[in-house]
Amino acid sequence: MKQNIAIVGAGIGGLTAALSLIRQGIGVDVYEQAPELKELGAGVQISSNGTRVLYALGLGEAIERLGVIVAGKEIRLWSTGQTWKLFDLGAESVERYGSPYMMFHRGDLHAALLGAIRHERPDAIHLNRKCIGVTQADDCVTIQFESGETATAPLVIGADGVQSRVRFSVFGADRPEFTGIVCWRVLVPRERVPESIRMKVGTNWVGPGGHVVHYPVRGGALLNLVGLMERDDWRVESWTVQGSKDEFHGDFRNWHPDIHAMIDSGDIPYKWALFARPPMPAWTNGRVTLLGDACHSMLPMMAQGAVMAIEDGMVLGRCVAKYGATPEALQRYETVRRDRANRCVAASIDNAKRFHNPDLAHAAGAEAYVTREWQEDKVTARYEWLFTYDATAVPI
Ligand SMILES: Cc1cc2nc3c(=O)[nH]c(=O)nc-3n(C[C@H](O)[C@H](O)[C@H](O)COP(=O)(O)OP(=O)(O)OC[C@H]3O[C@@H](n4cnc5c(N)ncnc54)[C@H](O)[C@@H]3O)c2cc1C
Repeated sequence: MKQNIAIVGAGIGGLTAALSLIRQGIGVDVYEQAPELKELGAGVQISSNGTRVLYALGLGEAIERLGVIVAGKEIRLWSTGQTWKLFDLGAESVERYGSPYMMFHRGDLHAALLGAIRHERPDAIHLNRKCIGVTQADDCVTIQFESGETATAPLVIGADGVQSRVRFSVFGADRPEFTGIVCWRVLVPRERVPESIRMKVGTNWVGPGGHVVHYPVRGGALLNLVGLMERDDWRVESWTVQGSKDEFHGDFRNWHPDIHAMIDSGDIPYKWALFARPPMPAWTNGRVTLLGDACHSMLPMMAQGAVMAIEDGMVLGRCVAKYGATPEALQRYETVRRDRANRCVAASIDNAKRFHNPDLAHAAGAEAYVTREWQEDKVTARYEWLFTYDATAVPI
């Protein structure tokens, strides 16, 4: 039997866990279903609690080259475009939290993790390995793959995303609930959009029943545009289904012209339905545990899903280094991580209500609502506990 730890899934969470283990001198095998490694054409925001981990894993030079540090975030009203400051980022984030808030093309962040792993362990990642189940004995776990092959390891980490087969195999079927929200995503060449929306800030447009987020990625060459709208007629939970610009425009009918200018300037948009899963009471069973979206998928309204997966990966590596390749290591990891991740799941649901509030319908009511909801002390209470967390040093 190989003594390497096995990780199922080479997404941002699985790769961070792999690198964290490698940096602790522990061998890993990562099994990924895809025939080639690439990420979706979309953006991802990594707040200081995530970049802190990436720096600790030795990725500072790569992320500074690939990411965009925005000056801040702002709230804009869906109808008039009225703008309020949400918070300052840039130098302020570094001063306050010790690490920057950065925006990435997902492929760039994924490639940075992958490059570091391949540099240290060129043979650690195995492609075309779709896990269909796991079985445990006293001292090891066997992974079954769709091809009929198997692999054994002393510990298995299910980092196989929201539809996790490892979770299904260990904990049974989950109960996803449709949120009534449809998401749109598209990348937009920044030089094609009006000057007024080219600024290096992150923007959240808020309105009754929907919101729109955009921010620069890939050195500022592209804008990542995401729109979420409450509607009941599309329930496909897939990241690879194309929609049309007409339908995207239609969902945001009567919203500000800047939004329509971005939709017009982008490529073909993708759409998917957002599902929510109730928090899991446990992530670990013996020598198998879960990580990232496999155990705590969340609505995107706090922009923390990938960041939580990054934190998980760091804590997992530290726990295995401290407690060995034992069930105790996985139990410690879960104890350290579960409440925090579940708190983030709940905070994301709260933010969905805030971003889509009916009080935003009319400009006069919206002014009072935004001023009340995004007061500095309330914003601090909502985000400070996230940004200050240090996965590299939290007691384990
Ligand atoms: C609209 C939107 C915007 C978002 N924006 C942000 C943001 O700004 N910031 C943020 O932190 N988070 C964001 N998120 C959340 C973030 O995308 C996810 O939380 C994150 O990608 C989860 O990473 P993961 O590694 O756990 O799972 P995944 O990225 O889903 O990776 C899972 C991997 O496992 C592989 N796999 C799946 N099944 C198997 C199998 N059976 N066998 C082998 N391999 C398998 C997959 O191919 C994949 O490579 C957003 C999400 C959405 C929907």
